[in-house]
Amino acid sequence: MVPVVAVAVLVGLLVAPPLRGLIAYFAVPEGEPWCDACPLCGRAVRLLPPTGRCPGCRGRLGAGAGTVEAVAAAVAVAVAYAADGPQTMALGWAGALGVALGFVDARVRRLPHLLNLALLAGVAVLLAAAALAEGRPGVLVRCLLAALTVGMLLELAVWAKALGPGDSPLGFALGGLLGWYGWPVALGGLFAAMVLAGLWATLLVVAALARRREVRGRDVPVGPFLLLGALIAVLAG
Ligand SMILES: [Zn+2]
Repeated sequence: MVPVVAVAVLVGLLVAPPLRGLIAYFAVPEGEPWCDACPLCGRAVRLLPPTGRCPGCRGRLGAGAGTVEAVAAAVAVAVAYAADGPQTMALGWAGALGVALGFVDARVRRLPHLLNLALLAGVAVLLAAAALAEGRPGVLVRCLLAALTVGMLLELAVWAKALGPGDSPLGFALGGLLGWYGWPVALGGLFAAMVLAGLWATLLVVAALARRREVRGRDVPVGPFLLLGALIAVLAG
């Protein structure tokens, strides 16, 4: 077990620099152009060090020091722990892009469609390959139905303006991935996400009341909780 954890941590650390690049690129407010260069020195944003600082000018760029590395390593350990078949490739892909999406949503309250699409496309291709490798293409029907179910439930919340527009596409992709593991995991992931987001919102309200400040619905990014709920459901399933 120790070697597996060590390898998983190493993988997490190796994927962190490009994930930091993605986070810095996409973590811009709605309506602003993507950040493809350091705003301070103009150096291209691709791979970023764990310090969370631009290699050119040492200015703050993207997520805080060590944060992406810690989360990516933890997710890699969780994926390694859950690994039990060819679908683990899809889980790993969703884990990596999920780290980027989670950080972007936490920073600027949005889940960019390009990142959502990349997560969905990778999961779809890798799950299809896994289903063929295992000789049971029928499981893909359940994945599709789970994707539609979770995606539509979240879309209802988007229509009710309870969620942001990026939450339902992410739910669609995660629902499809969790559908591989069965309906209890797919719906359990959504349930865990809502419970965690609700707890977080409650904490924010209590903290705001203590400081006599107002809380708005937009203060709670739901993406990180959808991702965390999905991971918990896979581990529990
Ligand atoms: Zn710079």
